[in-house]
Amino acid sequence: MMDNLMKDIRKVLITREQLQKRVAEMGQEITRDYQGKDVVLVGILKGAMPFLCDLMRCIDLPVTLDTMVVSSYGDNTVSSGSINIKKDLDKDIRGKHVIVVEDIIDTGITMDSLVPLLKKRGAASVELAICLNKKERRERDVFVKYIGFDIPDEFIVGYGCDYAEKYRNLPEVGVLKPEVYVRG
Ligand code: 5GP
Repeated sequence: MMDNLMKDIRKVLITREQLQKRVAEMGQEITRDYQGKDVVLVGILKGAMPFLCDLMRCIDLPVTLDTMVVSSYGDNTVSSGSINIKKDLDKDIRGKHVIVVEDIIDTGITMDSLVPLLKKRGAASVELAICLNKKERRERDVFVKYIGFDIPDEFIVGYGCDYAEKYRNLPEVGVLKPEVYVRG
């Protein structure tokens, strides 16, 4: 399966089966923790798409969905901790319990800026559900309530994570062969 994409992968870090199993557990944890609460899942596009789709179907609560497109500014403005919102939420989150759903956390700069912003808008609570955690690279002390997997400090693709916008649709998480970068 997926031979065309898999031929570019040097090693698989997390298989499709491992992802499905862990995401189901995360959905159960969220279901348990948010009983009776008004929950909005905020998917951060585009990376969160596969994780969001799988996770939401493992949450047995009447959640609503919203999405954002955000990017952190370049390294030179890191100290400001600002993010650029390219697409904002469609609905007001005042009084709602927000769970931000993201594919990967690396330095933590993006989430460290986004969480206070959502809190300032009057959310009842804001927590993070992140599939992949590169904890060695963290520069900001961000609390992530739901973590899928800790991964090493390597550039990964798949399960929403891209290289030059490609490989997001790979159903596993892996590391590309070096020649793929040369090919561009
Ligand atoms: P942070 O603000 O936590 O440093 O940035 C997180 C963002 O960096 C992610 O949403 C993702 O777009 C990107 N990123 C970090 N590490 C990787 C990686 O290994 N592979 C890919 N494809 N993107 C990554």
